[in-house]
Amino acid sequence: MTVAAGLSITPLPAFDDNYLWLLARDGEAAVVDPGDPEPVRRALAEQGLRLSAILVTHHHGDHAGGVPELRATGATVYGPRSEDIEGVDVRLGGGDTLTVLGVRFVVLDVPGHTAGHIAYFAEALDPPAVFCGDTLFACGCGRLFEGTAAQMLASLDRLAALPPATRVYCAHEYTLANIRFALAVEPDNAALQARAQAAQATRARGEPTVPSSIALERETNPFLRSAAPAVQVAARQRAGTDYLDRVQTFAAIRSWKDGFR
Ligand SMILES: [Zn+2]
Repeated sequence: MTVAAGLSITPLPAFDDNYLWLLARDGEAAVVDPGDPEPVRRALAEQGLRLSAILVTHHHGDHAGGVPELRATGATVYGPRSEDIEGVDVRLGGGDTLTVLGVRFVVLDVPGHTAGHIAYFAEALDPPAVFCGDTLFACGCGRLFEGTAAQMLASLDRLAALPPATRVYCAHEYTLANIRFALAVEPDNAALQARAQAAQATRARGEPTVPSSIALERETNPFLRSAAPAVQVAARQRAGTDYLDRVQTFAAIRSWKDGFR
């Protein structure tokens, strides 16, 4: 396996709870989902980096809003083929590949949050990395704005099937709230209880709880666990019915979370 020697991946906080991911290597940089150009410009200046690529996962403003301004630096902009995003140079869909900073990425179609949402997966990194925007969050998933529950579940299945060590670079710090909900669904999940303690300690130190890993998400994220008996029981109780298939289970958990405070 090729490891991109000297590659760094750093979160740049933006807005209330977004992370823009900055990749850097040998004086060159790439950024994922720059909703705000300012933190990116500052980091480039501070670290003396030249921006060569911008990767966008979906069209929402807090992910794509900074693209036109940052593109003026000469960076190549990659984005989803089926979404209308200003400034995209290379339009991508599932199975397409791209090489950025010497790292090969495969594009995954992950519709549900938006209709054309894509993720960028770098298998050759050690550990592998996936930049998944607002599809999979640490212990949660994105809201269904443009897709169906069946589409989102298929997208999450695609991400859950990545190698367990894959680091999940999602775009928001929602982890503590997500864990609070996950504990309402699965109060007896020991891995989830341990994750709650670890995440609280991390946030108390003022540090990001991301990236997480596919292995941890499979153990603790209720949206990846619609086949787990405890999650199915909770969904059935919530829906007041004695049978739900896997898509219905996912849909029940997703709508429960939408109203969860
Ligand atoms: Zn979004």
